Amino acid sequence: MNEYDSNRIYDLVSSIGFNKTNIKKEADCYLLNTCHIRDKSTEKVYDEIGRVKKDFKNLKKPLVIVTGCVAQAESNEMINREPYIDMVIGPQSYHKIRDLILNYKRKKEKVNETEFDVIKKFDDLQKFSNSQNKISSYLTIQEGCDKFCHFCVVPYTRGPEYSRPFNQIIDEANILVDNGAREIILLGQNVNAYNFTENSKNYKLSSLIKELDKIKNLKRIRYITSHPRDMTEDLINCYKNCEKLNPFLHLPIQSGSDRILKLMNRKHDSEYYLSIFKKLQDINKEIKISSDFIVGYPGETDRDFDDTMQLIEKVRFINSYSFIFSPRPGTPAAEKELNNMEESKKRLKKLQNLLDNLQLENNKTYLQQDCEILVENKLNNQEEYFGRNKYMTPVIFKSEFCKVGDLQNIKIISCNKKNLFGTHEINKVRAA
Ligand code: SF4
Repeated sequence: MNEYDSNRIYDLVSSIGFNKTNIKKEADCYLLNTCHIRDKSTEKVYDEIGRVKKDFKNLKKPLVIVTGCVAQAESNEMINREPYIDMVIGPQSYHKIRDLILNYKRKKEKVNETEFDVIKKFDDLQKFSNSQNKISSYLTIQEGCDKFCHFCVVPYTRGPEYSRPFNQIIDEANILVDNGAREIILLGQNVNAYNFTENSKNYKLSSLIKELDKIKNLKRIRYITSHPRDMTEDLINCYKNCEKLNPFLHLPIQSGSDRILKLMNRKHDSEYYLSIFKKLQDINKEIKISSDFIVGYPGETDRDFDDTMQLIEKVRFINSYSFIFSPRPGTPAAEKELNNMEESKKRLKKLQNLLDNLQLENNKTYLQQDCEILVENKLNNQEEYFGRNKYMTPVIFKSEFCKVGDLQNIKIISCNKKNLFGTHEINKVRAA
């Protein structure tokens, strides 16, 4: 979502004369769009600002702006602790950035803008065309979360759930496709909770997918990140009825232990999760899934960890993210006693070994097979192309005749854990 926000911030500031530069020391304005999900994110922001300070030591000080979830969480504290920062703007207030910059230039007063103003944000953003022109483009449809998992800061930094108007999203999708996008990734902290009503008509994520499926030059649709509780029948049915929806779903479970899921306040258990997985597979046998795992959650025992390992074996996730629990200030889990770090490290290693093996095993199933790839770009060596299959697996291949933005059938000849490597045969070209 930060990538989407950064692009939209750029759309806004470019309208008052700012352009991107790759030469840091030439910048008049340094904007750091921050994320609060990872460990030590706040300290990393101060470290980065320290580096900027050093770089500009004998130069004119740039306007320094911190946006995103660290800005939201730290608010005034950020300006007090590091006076080199001029403006702090939360993720639900960045639509005001043009006026804030212009005012700052006049008055030179520090700015702390961290209101939750999400409806106004998307209304204002609509006036500025999304200039992103990547083959695979992000499109935010929903923000915030009402689930309050005990380890997570999102409900505090992004605020309550908000769904953008249906037509506003479809208009933006059409602009992205006109700009060259061939895959749209619908974004939300709790994307499948999308729920918008207008003139007594209710729209869900499934309504959006069905509408996007009709856009002629769009070839693929994905969405992240989902909560198992919001995998409703209408959404599951899209995997049967919507041709462009990829048969790949990132569906975080976090733990395979029902006891830990309860402590996490996840609002589902492992049986419920497995029932969703079964429904998905029954409706489309091509479906594969990935997940997130937190290892060493406060109170996790060997038995809880074994439950997680067994669940992984059952589902055979093809690609997942896993971390050791780290407390986020202000969340209920941050009050709990931490598990033994050495033990957690051992568990993480074991879990990641299993996930890696499953990932490699899955990649090997493509060997000597044709795989449909969306070509995203040409690599720097100018000889090879980069694309992804329907499951997001990166594919690198040589071709003398393919075009960026095409769907191509590529024969896979080798692989490692992360990538597939292929060759492009001319009789396998599918028209764009
Ligand atoms: S559902 Fe996701 S975004 Fe919402 S609180 Fe839980 S982990 Fe955070």
